[in-house]
This record gives sequence, C-alpha cells and structure tokens, in this order.
Amino acid sequence: MTASRTIPLAPSASVHEHAWITESVHLTSDGRVRYVRCAGCSVRRVDVDTAALLPPAALTREIG
Ligand SMILES: [Zn+2]
Repeated sequence: MTASRTIPLAPSASVHEHAWITESVHLTSDGRVRYVRCAGCSVRRVDVDTAALLPPAALTREIG
C-alpha cells in the first residue's frame, strides 16, 4: 500500500506582486524620479515618470 503525497506550494517572497508605496519624489530634467518601497517585503526601487500618460518605468533593479 502506498500513501499518496502532495507537496504544498510554498509561497515565495520573490514572486509576490510588489505593493509599491512612494517614499519621496524629485523633479529632474529626465522627469519625475520616484523613490518607492514595497509595503509587503520592503524592497526598494527608483522609478522615473517620463510622461504623465505612461506608467512609471523602473530606473533601477529592485534593491534589497
Ligand atoms: Zn514586495
């Protein structure tokens, strides 16, 4: 007789959808630079808003 085993899917911090909150915003000649931090895992990132109609683009990789 064999027991069936299932492996639970462990949640990983690296796959969750970051909930970015803005810590500070600075106006520069390239646009509006925004320092953001994830409320869930505290990873930080720097975004730049190049145009008002476009979503923010990541200027850096995720740090932390
Ligand atoms: Zn996160």
